[in-house]
Amino acid sequence: MNSEPSKPEKRLHGVGVSPGIARGTVFVHRPDDEEPPVRQIPDSELPQEIARFETALIATRAQIVEMQQRISEAIGSKDAGIFDAHLLVVEDRTLIDEVMRTLEKERCNIEHAFLQVANRYAKTLSEIDDPYLRERALDIHDVTRRVIHNLLGKSTKVLSSLGVQHILVSHNLTPSDTAQLSRAFVLGFATDVGSKTSHTAIMARSLNIPAVVGLHNASQALSTGDHVLLDGYNGLVIVNPNDQTLWEYGELEDRKEKVAEKLAELRETEATTLDGRHVILSANIELPDDVEAVKKSGAEGIGLYRTEFFYLNRDELPTEDEQYENYLHVAEQARPFSVIIRTLDLGGDKFASALELPEELNPFLGWRAIRFCLERIDIFKVQLRAILRASISGNVRMMYPMISGLAELHRANDVLAECKVELRAEGKPFNEAMEVGAMIEIPSAALCADALAKEVKFFSIGTNDLIQYTIAVDRINERIAHLYEPTHPAIVRLLKMVVDAGHAHNLWVGVCGEMASEIALTPLLVGLGVDELSTGAALVPRVKRAVRSLETGVCLQLVEEVLRMDSSTEILAKCEEVARMHYPDLLS
Ligand code: PEP
Ligand code: MG
Repeated sequence: MNSEPSKPEKRLHGVGVSPGIARGTVFVHRPDDEEPPVRQIPDSELPQEIARFETALIATRAQIVEMQQRISEAIGSKDAGIFDAHLLVVEDRTLIDEVMRTLEKERCNIEHAFLQVANRYAKTLSEIDDPYLRERALDIHDVTRRVIHNLLGKSTKVLSSLGVQHILVSHNLTPSDTAQLSRAFVLGFATDVGSKTSHTAIMARSLNIPAVVGLHNASQALSTGDHVLLDGYNGLVIVNPNDQTLWEYGELEDRKEKVAEKLAELRETEATTLDGRHVILSANIELPDDVEAVKKSGAEGIGLYRTEFFYLNRDELPTEDEQYENYLHVAEQARPFSVIIRTLDLGGDKFASALELPEELNPFLGWRAIRFCLERIDIFKVQLRAILRASISGNVRMMYPMISGLAELHRANDVLAECKVELRAEGKPFNEAMEVGAMIEIPSAALCADALAKEVKFFSIGTNDLIQYTIAVDRINERIAHLYEPTHPAIVRLLKMVVDAGHAHNLWVGVCGEMASEIALTPLLVGLGVDELSTGAALVPRVKRAVRSLETGVCLQLVEEVLRMDSSTEILAKCEEVARMHYPDLLS
């Protein structure tokens, strides 16, 4: 009897951005082919669905007409004629009536009703032996995609809601996409593009989903149904893993599990060096649910709450009350430690669907974070009032992202003062002594840190952006990822400048960028005098072990040496040497 020969193993190489091993069946997500999820709707929602359909048809018609005009101006009216056929589809009374009948009969969302009918029409036409009618089938497909896109809108575009476990493969995933992933079904994900400090990667680590990015063509090379093993430690996707590979990975998982068990024993201890210097070790969160993982990790509170994730994937901006409840809930959960709530950092790679932000050529250099808030004071104030009100819990601190200089900080503080006046007048309580800090993530802020220090209670260094802006390396562009060097001499010098300026003004200084979780760099950060490290929750135990294995003297000596070095690789090698000397087991 002939048994089917096993398929050969194939390895795709990328960048591991979220640790862990996942094994399973691939689902390739192609946004344009995405089927909208089916939803049953009550009778009361029927008129609303019909109205949505009408709006989507009108929008689709307008888009087609506009495109027709543009093409006609550019290449002549003959070629623009193909759009007449598209217009016929959106105006096809028989098709529209059929959609209405399906909606009434099935009581489902309009996207599903429309797609069923349109697909049926297209299929029937494509099966007829007539080239003209077959072309009409293509027209229907094209228009269908457009109508569905308009129906779903940006806001409700839902990533595959497959009810089975799978490894998600996509050309790209935005931070909003990633925030929607279900840990129960998505075992891991792999993308063609992306980098370690993108918010997509940060989100994957928060959700504890193993992930590999920067695979270049995984979304083409892989097909739905392929069997793969995804190695988030080493950035590998192994297609059809053979028995030897599966055995090796089984061993690796055992080893990792043992290390994790050992690290978990440190949960109740503090991150204190061998000679007794305590470094506050906190964790970053993106969503309120992440607090659970923070508590389990043994972190001392939340060093960065990226509140903008609360604004993503929704049609309306969150109200003041909703935000107040959310922040208060997080603060209460974080007790006895504190939470640092960062004000809205939209823009860059994070876009709220409820806001029609214009597309920009250089979004990371554009209308982002505090710049946006200082122009949309209406939106900013809603959040500031909510944070102030939540501060009655007594353990809330707040910080502004992307401060570039003193004027911006003054303006932000003025808006905060206005909110305080309003709340006092309304008799709404808040903590008058709530500490306010500034993120230092733009070189201009680092260089002016001594001036900024006079206006805040703490600094938190956002190394993800500080590195991107100092070396001019887009943090999400995998092509230039090799240039993104945390140990660039310029970065080391800027970090020293910020810590020294903060300490000279009696401020504490934290690091909440991903550099805080790089255990090879822990000796450097401890030696620079950083008071707090805030990392992804899953990485807290490793960083704690690293700090607990170090001596301040050795770290100070390291800083002295690296400040005399001019090369990133030399600095990195020196840091790794010290780290290897003190915790070789963690680095293997
Ligand atoms: C940073 O820039 O280092 C930071 C912590 O903020 P974010 O990653 O959200 O930009
Ligand atoms: Mg930042």
